[in-house]
Amino acid sequence: MDDSGAIWEFLGSVSRLLPQGHVLDGTAAQARYGDNTIGIHRFIPGAVSPVSRDHVVDIVKLSRRLEVPLYPVSTGRNSGYGDANPVTDGCIVVDLSSMRRIIELDETAGLVTVEPGVTQGMLRAYLDERDLKFLCPVTGAGPDCSLIGNALERGFGITPYADHFLSMMSLEAVLPDGRLYVPPLAELGCRAADRAFKWGVGPFLDGIFSQGAFGIVTQMTIALARTPERVEAFFFGLKQLSAATATTLMYLEVVSAILLGYFVLDEPITWNILLGGSFIVTSSYLISRLNKKN
Ligand SMILES: Cc1cc2nc3c(=O)[nH]c(=O)nc-3n(C[C@H](O)[C@H](O)[C@H](O)COP(=O)(O)OP(=O)(O)OC[C@H]3O[C@@H](n4cnc5c(N)ncnc54)[C@H](O)[C@@H]3O)c2cc1C
Repeated sequence: MDDSGAIWEFLGSVSRLLPQGHVLDGTAAQARYGDNTIGIHRFIPGAVSPVSRDHVVDIVKLSRRLEVPLYPVSTGRNSGYGDANPVTDGCIVVDLSSMRRIIELDETAGLVTVEPGVTQGMLRAYLDERDLKFLCPVTGAGPDCSLIGNALERGFGITPYADHFLSMMSLEAVLPDGRLYVPPLAELGCRAADRAFKWGVGPFLDGIFSQGAFGIVTQMTIALARTPERVEAFFFGLKQLSAATATTLMYLEVVSAILLGYFVLDEPITWNILLGGSFIVTSSYLISRLNKKN
């Protein structure tokens, strides 16, 4: 089916809604989002970059009317897992990186509510500017990656709240028909309780938006771990990594929060150099940041 007419009409209509430069045609979108670290090649007929939730609603309604498929990214840095490339050809990329408000930070509960474009680096800067003693849920992917994209991918990090979808407390999403999803507690008017109590009431529906395509997430509340009083880095060697040792390490990291993170270095010398080097750089950086704060 030739859907170029629908794509053309869609891009034209969206460009009347968004600020200049926030709609890309096929050539520009391909150049901006086409690169892919796993070597696949997708046909991307256009891209749009909304600035607000209302824009997302309008874009979704328009896409439904014109039957134009959408593919959302928060910052599109899903390196090694497809980057910003849609999973099939012919999708418009909805790049949410221009929605970058840190909406609210509850210092008592340690809860932050962010839009999709907020990155690890932005949250760290925000906490530093206010001298707030919380850790940013960082990953090895770097400061320019979004918090929301990583949480929706069920990413893992190196703070005591290592499982990023587990520390996702609440979210809001635009459904395929343009309606807004909020969790049941929030819908009942208990917005604050909903943010503080992940499981809410009734079936847990927030999960359908993680590694799923049931809506575009426009806001998320994330629990932040407090900065510990003291952090130590240590190294030890094992002749053999048994299943029992691996399980204990995972337990210490995920369940007990004693261990902030660990790297297992294998035998081959090149990998030892690469991984060892990045481990030392990452841990020194983290420790110096933590020391600065305490
Ligand atoms: C060197 C290196 C180290 C890495 N280390 C880690 C690590 O330690 N831990 C880890 O977890 N990952 C790691 N990664 C993987 C990856 O880069 C991260 O998961 C990254 O955070 C994802 O990119 P993003 O935040 O820009 O998400 P995006 O690319 O924006 O999105 C990721 C996925 O979620 C969907 N999505 C994004 N936003 C929305 C939304 N608002 N609504 C609906 N769906 C959405 C997208 O369609 C896409 O499928 C690493 C990658 C590299 C290259």
